[in-house]
Formats: sequence, structure tokens, C-alpha cells
Amino acid sequence: MAEDVVTMEKIVALCKRRGFIFQSSEIYGGLASTYDYGHYGVLLKQNVKNEWWRAVLQERDDMVALDAAILMHPKVWEASGHLAGFSDPLVQCLGKCKQRFREDQLREAQPEGELKCPVCGGDLTPPRQFNLMFETNMGPVQEEGSTVYLRPETAQGIFVNFKNVLQFSRKKPPFGIAQVGKSFRNEITPQNFIFRTREFEQMEIEFFVPPSEAPVWYDRWRQWRLDWYIDLGIRPDHLQLREHGTDELSHYSSGTSDIEYLFPMGWSELEGIANRGDYDLSQHAKYSGDKLEYVDTATGDRYVPHVIEPSAGAARGTLAFMVDSYDEEEVEGRERVLLRLHPRLAPVKVAVLPLVNKDGQPETARKIYEELRRLMPAEFDTGGSIGKRYRRQDEIGTPWGVTVDHQTMEDQTVTLRDRDSLTQERIAISKLGTELLGRLNAPWRTPKLGGGEAQAA
Ligand code: ATP
Repeated sequence: MAEDVVTMEKIVALCKRRGFIFQSSEIYGGLASTYDYGHYGVLLKQNVKNEWWRAVLQERDDMVALDAAILMHPKVWEASGHLAGFSDPLVQCLGKCKQRFREDQLREAQPEGELKCPVCGGDLTPPRQFNLMFETNMGPVQEEGSTVYLRPETAQGIFVNFKNVLQFSRKKPPFGIAQVGKSFRNEITPQNFIFRTREFEQMEIEFFVPPSEAPVWYDRWRQWRLDWYIDLGIRPDHLQLREHGTDELSHYSSGTSDIEYLFPMGWSELEGIANRGDYDLSQHAKYSGDKLEYVDTATGDRYVPHVIEPSAGAARGTLAFMVDSYDEEEVEGRERVLLRLHPRLAPVKVAVLPLVNKDGQPETARKIYEELRRLMPAEFDTGGSIGKRYRRQDEIGTPWGVTVDHQTMEDQTVTLRDRDSLTQERIAISKLGTELLGRLNAPWRTPKLGGGEAQAA
């Protein structure tokens, strides 16, 4: 993809056209910054999450999984500091537009002098605090003490289960707990499509380590998480690790880095990796009265583990994979739009298409499709010209296409088309399944890197 080809508008249009993502409640005019995932969007985001689970859980032996509830005891949010501090100072325009803005974001854009409204140039109010947590009530009656919150991060569910996990899992630090789930933040300025929404999914790890090992694990996790995006096809020159300055760090953090991606609106955070010390476990120990520490039965050593937290957004990742794989090219005088997605991320792996809709071809193609779909997500399509059907598959990123033609009826071979190179080779039907499974699990090489270099996954 040439850098100037992709815009957010093109991604939004493709998402709607091909059924990845829709505006929520669209027939009622839509609800601001909320989105619904359609068929291919569900499959793509699910694949992003699956690849995350594969890398952080399946391919390691020092991690366990968790799925904590969205609603938690309100004290959790006192202990975590969210009730007191999960707010951003806002300023409101006193001029024409009356809009509200985050003061810190305005300051970035207007580093000097008195802040002015970026929309209409009006004067602004002094900053005020707003709580970013969504509140609701537990039980049908709204009464004192019934207030609960939709969690603004999945992390706290992990901390409050530290003791449970330690008891059953027979793990000792260094080990981690991984979780994927919905989080909610009443963001002031949701924007940029699914980049910043009020309801979103996080993929979070809390990795518990002996205190002296924290800096080493922090470095490792920064590298591992960066490599994960590269292995799944994002061009390395579209990723950067940005270490927070001391003025940006929370008081308990001794290091935080953002993995940033070059989105169409510029470099923006994809994932944060933080060295959080023993802050979280100590806070929950203080507020709950429970001891949250590790006791080494062999040596008698006891300590509160330090925590490294790699925290990623599933939607931001999904958006980055779409943006980075988006491409347009001209083939034989016709424009083709395609997503050069890593095969493991692609919503559909193989499309089976009869060249023509007669002569037994659709029946044979359907049989092949029914065999293949037992192995991997597959599609069977008979509607429209073969060119149109391929364009549709290119736009949803399907890496392989199988065409059944007149020769198939004679010698039981089909053509196998590669999305990226457009090469077509003949292959026996009996070998298709093994061939495609092999390709799906092989290291993947993308032909479209910024530097023109291919890269092994
Ligand atoms: P930002 O500075 O962009 O608001 P953050 O630093 O507050 O993000 P974290 O609290 O570190 O974000 O959350 C970890 C990850 O969760 C982020 O890197 C991002 O991928 C995702 N995330 C956070 N807020 C949102 C949101 N409003 N919409 C979508 N994803 C989000």
C-alpha cells in the first residue's frame, strides 16, 4: 500500500460496504461513537483476539486465563483510584459552539498562551472534573448503596482474583493472568471511527514478577508485544514504541511505553505497556483487608509481586490491521481494492467459485466447499461474474480462491488463486485441504512492505 492511498473515509466506506462495521442504531440516526460489528467484522475481530490468546497463552506456560464480570464491588474502584481520579479536567467553550474539550489535549495543540476554543475560537471556562465511569444501579430500586459501575478497564478483575488464581494454578511469579473483555469509558471526545469509543474491548495481561525482576520483564513485554503486531503483518516502519516522559507517568509507574501505529490521523496509541510496581495489589490489600502477596513455601520468602501490564484494545488492533493491509491497484485496466490481511486474521480463508453456473460446476464446487469448511472458514459463491466474485473476496481479504472450471470435470483439478500475487496454479482436489492448511500455518511473507522487503512472520 502506498502511504497516501488509505484514508479513514475509505476504511469506513469499505467496512459498511462489505459488512464489517456499521453505525449503531443507524435507522434512528445512529448513537454517537457506537458501532456494531457485522459478519466479517465479527470474524476479523475474533481472529485478532484469537491470535492474542495464541501468543500470550497457548504458546507460553507462564500464563492463565480469566473472564471476570463487568460489574464489580464499588470498593474496587475506590481502591484502584478510579472513583477519585478517573476524570479528565474539561473546559467548555463560552463562545458560540459551547462544546467541551479535554484541557490536556488542547494544551498539546496550543502549547503557548491562553487556551481558545479550537472550533469557534471562543473563550473557555476554567477546567472542571468529570467522572468518566458509567454509573448504573444494582437491583430494580434506585437507592443509596445500589450504585455500581461499568468497568472502565478489565485489569481490576485480574487484581481482585490474584489470590484465587494463585491458589488453584500452582503458578509462582513470574506468571501472568490474561483477560479479554468489554470496558466502558464516558470519553469526552470519542473519535476516529472505532479508534476511541465509549464501549470497547480490551486484551489485558497482568504479569506478576519478583520486584527485582520488574525492569527486565518490562523490557521483554515491550518487545514481545511490538513483535506480535509485526508478525501479524503490520509494517515495522508503521509502528513505534514511545516511552512516556516522567511528567506523563502516573505516580506509581516506573515506566510506561505506548506502542503507536501510524493511523491515517497520525501516530496514535495501539497498546500501553506499564511497569506498575506493587501499587494495585497493595491498594486492594489495603481496602479489602486481605493479604495479596506471594509466599514461597520452600524459602519462607514473602513479597508483594510487581506487575507489568500490557494492555491492548481489540478494536484499535482490528482497525490497525485493516488500515495497514488496505491496498488499491490496477490489474489489466481495472482497479482492485484489497485487504492484504495475514491469512490467520482474514475472516474467510478460501472462496470456492464455479467458473460458470452450469455443466455440473456449481455442484462440484459446493462439494469442495463443504469439505474445506470443515478445516477453515470458507465461502461458496455463484452470484455474478467470476471477476466480480473475486473483487468481493479481495475486499474482505480472502487469501485464497479455488475455481472449478471445465477442466475440473475432466481431471479433478482446480485452480488455486493467491490474493496478493494473483498467481493461479492447478492443483488436485484431493490435495487442496492439506495444501491450504499448510499455507495457513506456514510463516507468512507479505509482498507489500514499506521498504519493499518481504518479511517472515
Ligand atoms: P488513550 O490515551 O488513547 O485514551 P489510554 O492510555 O487511556 O488510551 P489505557 O487505559 O492504557 O488507554 O487502555 C489500554 C488500551 O485500551 C489502549 O491502548 C487502547 O488500545 C484501548 N482503549 C482505551 N480506551 C479506548 C477507547 N475509548 N476506545 C477504544 N479503545 C480504547
